[in-house]
Amino acid sequence: MATVVELPLEVYQGAVEPDWCPGCGDFGVLRALELASQKLGLRTKDIFLVSGIGCSSNLPGFFHAYGVHSLHGRAVAVASGAKLANHELHVVITGGDGDGYGIGLNHFIHAMRRNLDLTYIVMNNQIYGLTTGQASPTTRVGHKTKSTPRGNVELPINPVALALVSGATYIARGFSGENKHLADLIGGGIAHHGFSLVDVFSPCVTYNKINTHQFFRQHCYKLQDDPGYQTSDYDSALKKSFEWDDKKIPIGVFYKGEQLTYEDSEPALKKGPLVRQPLPVEKGLFDELVEEFY
Ligand code: SF4
Repeated sequence: MATVVELPLEVYQGAVEPDWCPGCGDFGVLRALELASQKLGLRTKDIFLVSGIGCSSNLPGFFHAYGVHSLHGRAVAVASGAKLANHELHVVITGGDGDGYGIGLNHFIHAMRRNLDLTYIVMNNQIYGLTTGQASPTTRVGHKTKSTPRGNVELPINPVALALVSGATYIARGFSGENKHLADLIGGGIAHHGFSLVDVFSPCVTYNKINTHQFFRQHCYKLQDDPGYQTSDYDSALKKSFEWDDKKIPIGVFYKGEQLTYEDSEPALKKGPLVRQPLPVEKGLFDELVEEFY
């Protein structure tokens, strides 16, 4: 086993200070990602962060690594392309529930069924924060928001259950107020070979006055505190994914399985990352193709 050389935490800190509202849960997620990267001994040149649009999608700007702030709901698609171009990179997607489970839901499902080796961290605050407090795909029934003044009538998406039935092979849920626990979940996701989802309760202190830090502190419990819970047991994970009542909400690793990744199965990638393979097109033809698309 290779020796892990932990780098100082400052190595991962971006030059720009986060502009999130004071108390926003996303600060805890950023710190957890730094801690996870440190613990895994990742070098910043090997990390590629991709985000969509939203408050949480600003995260790549605050972390020192390669990154791209892409289009609304398209982060998973951009990340899939980056991974296929260079599958030696640690490609981590960061974004919110509206971006990932609403606008980008289609890409999310297809990336999971392909089991691409990507890590998706969704800062799930159950509201649209950047656009000032409309109901999102994970807003609970009855929640009064700007767009649902008489209470939300739509059933929320269940990201853990959706990931389980769509083929993700590492599925976890954390809480941004449980920093070290969250860092372990994220680190587990990055180390995992296959698609990993880390859904994170990351409270929006400005627009969600129900699902607050205090709410999650009171209700969350850790799956791994039960020594009998087996992350390899798919049926138990599915059952647990529907557990959400007034008293307890599970966090931790729900499921971990092994399956061939898309990269392992794709013959074109067997000779190594595409970025290092010669382009099998003559220069004249290459110039013609570029000209055509210019
Ligand atoms: Fe965070 Fe909400 Fe402020 Fe956005 S609006 S930065 S999600 S607290």
